[in-house]
Amino acid sequence: MSLKERIELVNTRIRQACKRSGRQPEEINIVAVTKYVSLEATEAVLDQGLTHIGENRLQVAGPKWEQLGGRGTWHFIGHLQTNKVKDVIGKFGYIHSLDRLSLAKELEKKAAAENTFIKVFIQVNISGEETKQGLAPDEVPGFLEEVRKLPHLKVIGLMTMAPFEGDPEDTRPIFRGLRELRDQLNDKSLTDEPMEHLSMGMSNDFEVAVEEGATWLRLGTLLVGKEEEN
Ligand SMILES: *Cc1c(COP(=O)(O)O)cnc(C)c1O
Repeated sequence: MSLKERIELVNTRIRQACKRSGRQPEEINIVAVTKYVSLEATEAVLDQGLTHIGENRLQVAGPKWEQLGGRGTWHFIGHLQTNKVKDVIGKFGYIHSLDRLSLAKELEKKAAAENTFIKVFIQVNISGEETKQGLAPDEVPGFLEEVRKLPHLKVIGLMTMAPFEGDPEDTRPIFRGLRELRDQLNDKSLTDEPMEHLSMGMSNDFEVAVEEGATWLRLGTLLVGKEEEN
């Protein structure tokens, strides 16, 4: 299947999931995760009109970003080391993996120095798996309060990763849990502006995520493909 066909197929499946759950396809944004593919394949994604690019490693993403002349809007989706923040500011408009205050403070410092803003998702470990990054749900309110004090960070929502399940239906409680947490936080008015976004859903489980309220899907394998190591 060509990239164009894969994009059409994904869009069709998103539309169907929206129909099932009474949502509008316009509410759903796609981050094309290009971490498994070459510079050329990343460029092809941009050429197809997908403008949001997701990468999880700076060694790979930095050179791609340089070569592509900063085309597109870049999303950092992986674990971010505090000493790498300087390489993120100015390149990435969004960070999906904010999971600790030391990282938030470093992002604030560097963004302020560059006179820029960065949009962030707080990563939450809904499943409670030890191997997953992210804050425990009960840590999020206090964390949010601290991050709100940092003027160059804009918290736009929450992010989670569901465990890989043979049956994607099994991920539903995770996605529902993230939505309910966001709604609770918005109700508590911990925020001057309510958090709008939920970054959840990957190749294996994005339709369930859409049904549960995802506004940003992070799609790699199914959409962009995966190149063999060479
Ligand atoms: C790799 C990755 C994805 C994309 O995964 P696929 O299953 O290939 O769609 C999404 N989110 C994060 C955080 C990732 O690391």
